[in-house]
Amino acid sequence: MVGLANRPGGYSQADVQFLQPLLNTAGHLELARRAELARSEVESQLARTSALLAEKTRALEGTLASVSQGITSVDATGHIRVYNRRYLELLDLPEELLATQPTVEEVVRFQTGRGDFGPGFELIEPSARAYVASDHSWRVDGPSVPETYIRKTRAGRFLEVRTRFLEAGGRVRTFSDVTEYLGTLQALRESEARWRSLTHLSSDWYWEQDADFRFVRFDGSAERDRDIPDESQYGLTRWELPDAVVAPGQWSKHRQQLQAHKVFHDFEMRRTGSDGTPIWVSISGEPIFDAEGRFTGYRGIARNITQRKKAEAEIERLAFYDELTGLPNRRLLLDRLAQAAQLCAREECHGALLFLDLDNFKAINDTFGHEWGDRLLVQVAERLQAGVRSVDTVARLGGDEFVLILQHLHSVEPEAAVEAEAIAQKVIASLNEPFQVDKREIHRTPSIGIALFRDAQQSVHELLQRADLAMYQAKVQGRNTLCFFDPAMQAAASARSALEGDIRLALQRNEFLLHYQPVVNEQGEVMGAEALVRWMHPQRGMVSPGEFIPLAEQTGLILPLGRLVMRLACEQLALWAAMPRTAGWSVSVNVSAKEFRRPHFVPQVLEILQESGADPSRLKVELTESLMLHDVEDSILKMQALRTLGVGFSLDDFGTGYSSLGYLKRLPLDQLKIDQSFVRDVLTDPNDAAIACTIVALAHSLGLKVVAEGVETPGQLDFLLRNGCRSFQGYLFGRPGPVELLYK
Ligand code: C2E
Ligand code: CA
Ligand code: CA
Repeated sequence: MVGLANRPGGYSQADVQFLQPLLNTAGHLELARRAELARSEVESQLARTSALLAEKTRALEGTLASVSQGITSVDATGHIRVYNRRYLELLDLPEELLATQPTVEEVVRFQTGRGDFGPGFELIEPSARAYVASDHSWRVDGPSVPETYIRKTRAGRFLEVRTRFLEAGGRVRTFSDVTEYLGTLQALRESEARWRSLTHLSSDWYWEQDADFRFVRFDGSAERDRDIPDESQYGLTRWELPDAVVAPGQWSKHRQQLQAHKVFHDFEMRRTGSDGTPIWVSISGEPIFDAEGRFTGYRGIARNITQRKKAEAEIERLAFYDELTGLPNRRLLLDRLAQAAQLCAREECHGALLFLDLDNFKAINDTFGHEWGDRLLVQVAERLQAGVRSVDTVARLGGDEFVLILQHLHSVEPEAAVEAEAIAQKVIASLNEPFQVDKREIHRTPSIGIALFRDAQQSVHELLQRADLAMYQAKVQGRNTLCFFDPAMQAAASARSALEGDIRLALQRNEFLLHYQPVVNEQGEVMGAEALVRWMHPQRGMVSPGEFIPLAEQTGLILPLGRLVMRLACEQLALWAAMPRTAGWSVSVNVSAKEFRRPHFVPQVLEILQESGADPSRLKVELTESLMLHDVEDSILKMQALRTLGVGFSLDDFGTGYSSLGYLKRLPLDQLKIDQSFVRDVLTDPNDAAIACTIVALAHSLGLKVVAEGVETPGQLDFLLRNGCRSFQGYLFGRPGPVELLYK
């Protein structure tokens, strides 16, 4: 199978035959014998050499046969002298052709004839096409032989043809099947292309670091984003980047992760963009290990998250800061307060909470409009911030309420109080300076409540409440002043809130009822009664309205309570109407300012009148003077609406308020009630006596009836009678009590 020619070394058969006659003619037997010896020596040597050669040949044949490449050796004349089986297989050549030791041209001609190269030699790599097609490939003047080229076989395999020239002339050529390799190469190219378009289309970029965490590669959307890193940062670690900023403690955490060769996600870093604005980057990465499992570096992606960060910041701003002044809002304040309390506990110092409210701020809004009010608030915020240290917090709770948290005050309470007071005084002084809004000077004073704290014992809500209470105290004390919280205030406040809860419960449990106090004429005959609410408390017994009406008014509970009173009184009227003795009686119902001012008041009374079937002309509504002061026009409209049905109106506690004659005339009233304070002293205090007389005269001149309340003695009654009063109410005629008492 192999055309390897035998070429033995040493003496040939011809050499020995040439020596023989010479030895014989000389008769030199000894020489002949020696020659004979030498000859056999030569022969055996020859045999050994031949065997060695055959063995080497076999070994070489075996080697060539087992090589995965096809091999040919072409001698200087262009004849293929050596080839192996793999060569025949790869090129699909018949052994008979090669056995004749053909020239390369002959083989090429055979292949061309069979169509091995395609009609136009397309199956040969372009660079080698001319050479193969030339048909005199072995000639020195032919196209130069490419060192390597790729060709495709008809079976679709790719062969890499490599040619090496031998010094002695001729050449050795190898044929390797690189189909798999090329396939892998192609797949790799495609994968690389996919990767490129991925990194270019995505806003993320790719990075790689060496084993010392130094950047060695960035890939990504460089064209679109000028702010992704470039080659100038190769060789730097992430923490060596000149403008990189991360949250406190994050660098060491990050470096620990890297040292531990851990995967990390969403590591956030702030950098400075080319235009100087901050850029936020989120980075994820994983360690790289080589085939032996040795750590060689990190790779990962990074993403510009500036937009998201901005959105988050905006959301935070909206959630934690006041729109108008940019100060922390209530939520953030509570947060800071909790922190401050913890800090005080740790550092054993005091903190102070200052609750500040502008006096009569509402008047600004009402007079100049909300825009003015807003501008004033912005200025107040600025002054407050200028007046405190940077560690302190200024927050706006809403409206004209501001809160200051002072930290690091003295550890001894009285000392801390002195410090807090000094700061509060400073704040008051700065706010007392006139404000300039639209060239107009505005003066506004604050009231400040102060609550000290030194640990996290009280809840932040409690603290805020304390300061708030103290602030109200400051208002009570005459405004433009400050007041410290004290426990008595607290006690009163908790009593109040307990009472409020109790009132709610009492409404649900129907613990409220009406007592009636007779109203009599000059003969002492009952003409009707005033309905006075009572609370039948399960523990405290009968509670008088003085204890809960004010609170009910403040909390709005007066609305359901007032509705209840009105209904009970009207139902009573309906009952009286059915009995001849009481059919002419009327009932007086006290109505608080808060109830009366509600737009719903008139329809509500109408509804109750209808439902109870009471005669409207037997109902008298008792209002107080202060109520009228607020919105006279609205009051007149409401009163007129009810008066058309026959409902009467009585001005209660008359004389204690500030009623001016002017509007007294305009109000559609039916009667005045002389306040009991004048009646009480009508016999002893000439002043009160004069007032009582004046009221009676005034009522008459206005065409109003007049009722004196709080009549306790016959002397008082006598005086009032003599001065023209015709209706009376007081202990002298009967105390307020269950309705049955009226019938006795
Ligand atoms: P008011 O309308 O001036 O009621 C008269 C108060 O004087 C009643 O007190 C009554 O018990 C008391 N009184 C009557 N005669 C005498 C007397 O001869 N001497 C003295 N010293 N006092 C006398 P009461 O019932 O405690 O009511 C207190 C206030 O509570 C009432 O003052 C009224 O303003 C308010 N109030 C009572 N019931 C209601 C109600 O149903 N709704 C509203 N909004 N307020 C009510
Ligand atoms: Ca009354
Ligand atoms: Ca009264």
